Amino acid sequence: MKCPFCNQDNTRVVDSRPVEDTNSIRRRRLCDVCGRRFTTYEKVESIPLTVIKKDQNREQYDRGKIQAGILRACYKRPIPVEKIEEMMDAIEGEIFNTEEKEISSTRIGEIVMEHLKELDAVAYVRFASVYREFKDVSTFMDELKKFMN
Ligand SMILES: [Zn+2]
Repeated sequence: MKCPFCNQDNTRVVDSRPVEDTNSIRRRRLCDVCGRRFTTYEKVESIPLTVIKKDQNREQYDRGKIQAGILRACYKRPIPVEKIEEMMDAIEGEIFNTEEKEISSTRIGEIVMEHLKELDAVAYVRFASVYREFKDVSTFMDELKKFMN
């Protein structure tokens, strides 16, 4: 993105956060040439982001998919919907914080797990078990122990 002050193309994102209810991201940008900062508002759907899946196939970033995975993990847990929404916004902010055009599904999974860990132990382990594709009970127990420590 071009700097509005000096018109150079060397700007980078220093902070991203979702704007409530508008489905957009507020970004603070810094120009490496003149050192000035400016703010942009970008619609999430207008920010091109491709997710690289484990099989190396690419697909368009989809908030709904991440949310569905989280809701499945939180099923019947005593977590208020607003908490999940809040967490989803934080996760999305982190995903869009890098200005990369591609992100791996592995990285997304890790970001989600970091947040779930703080929210609810059971939801975390559920998500981790799906995401890490535990082959057997002992791997699952290892993960659980790691979490308990
Ligand atoms: Zn500039």
